[in-house]
Amino acid sequence: MAKEDLECSFCGRKKPETNLLIAGLDAHICDRCIEQAHGIVIEESKQMDSGDLSAELMLRKPQQIKSFLDEYIIGQEHTKRVMSVAVYNHYKRLLQSTSDDDVEIQKSNIIMVGQTGTGKTLMAKTIARMLNVPLAIVDATVLTEAGYVGEDVESILTRLLQAADYNLEKAQRGIVFIDEIDKIARKSDNPSITRDVSGEGVQQALLKLLEGTVVNVPPKGGRKHPDQKFIEVNTENILFIAGGAFDGLERHISKRLNMSAIGYKASHEGEIVDKDNLLEFVIPKDLKDYGLIPEIIGRLPVLTYMNPLDSNTLRAILTEPKNAIVKQYKKLFKMDDIDLSFTEGALEFIVDKAIEYKLGARGLRSLCEEILTDAMFTLPGGEETRLSVTKNYAEGKLSRTRLKKLKAAS
Ligand code: ADP
Repeated sequence: MAKEDLECSFCGRKKPETNLLIAGLDAHICDRCIEQAHGIVIEESKQMDSGDLSAELMLRKPQQIKSFLDEYIIGQEHTKRVMSVAVYNHYKRLLQSTSDDDVEIQKSNIIMVGQTGTGKTLMAKTIARMLNVPLAIVDATVLTEAGYVGEDVESILTRLLQAADYNLEKAQRGIVFIDEIDKIARKSDNPSITRDVSGEGVQQALLKLLEGTVVNVPPKGGRKHPDQKFIEVNTENILFIAGGAFDGLERHISKRLNMSAIGYKASHEGEIVDKDNLLEFVIPKDLKDYGLIPEIIGRLPVLTYMNPLDSNTLRAILTEPKNAIVKQYKKLFKMDDIDLSFTEGALEFIVDKAIEYKLGARGLRSLCEEILTDAMFTLPGGEETRLSVTKNYAEGKLSRTRLKKLKAAS
């Protein structure tokens, strides 16, 4: 057969009409048909991904969810239990059959209160990692009411779509972590005095997303691409986790506890209330007094708290989690055939500095980076096969000015 008589066995186009015609055993395929077939393969695999999800989820019971969290998160026992149950119930809800009876399981969106750096984001990330669902982390402070400078609340769903590689099915079962929810608390008790575009207005806008609705989402984000086609995202099965430091919330809690001291003592017999564990006693009313509107609190029915990190916890964070900071550095050094170790004295020194300079868990990483940068620069390619970081070594690498800079940057 003459070359120009060859044709695509799928669409019948003659060779001159194609850009490329690939020969198989007994057939040919053109570039257009390859592209089309590729599209079909991707679509099919997307559908398979989302179908598997529910079966996989039901294999993990709350205690197994908690064990998974234990591998990555030190302490925070109470919150880990609460989260395990909430996540389990959330996915049970996804599997509920609607026809059986009139009982409809409602969403178990979560709100976590606790100082910054206590692991709220880590909690959301670890859950998303376990469930293998997309996670969008958004900062509530950038959100404003539609029409004002800042981001519309729909941008949250744009992020989720992006995290899901635009697989709508996956995005609709994903997790959204809204950080700094406390920063959109109502600023004044009387909303009519000034327009509160970044406070109550945003809370109102968020409400719809939290309770479950269909939202027209610009896939590339808000206002820069006015011509894009909207994607309809249903938020019904998206799990929302909100977190915030709620600075000063303790005052509301202690005020409430003192006011009803008698009733309180009766119901919390034997429990000691001091200023370090006040958050343990948080109830929805405290959030309302802080400035969250009751409807938002109602849509975040699981309320839990994160403990501040003490020196034992910080010490454990350095070495124990599955991807602990020290393990990560050891791996980096190992790739250059260098055996890295830390003495107990060095680890204690790092924790002490993190506490002294109020750097928190996030600071542990920057401290290690400061201590190890020289070695990471000079050792690769050299003769050295081991580095033992002692307290003296660590002290030598951390000058006072560097520490102050770290504090300023944290
Ligand atoms: P938050 O969201 O509460 O401000 P993050 O989750 O961002 O805090 O925590 C900051 C970093 O501190 C995390 O990347 C993690 O490495 C570490 N960290 C904080 N708390 C814990 C914890 N309980 N267990 C393990 N690591 C933690």
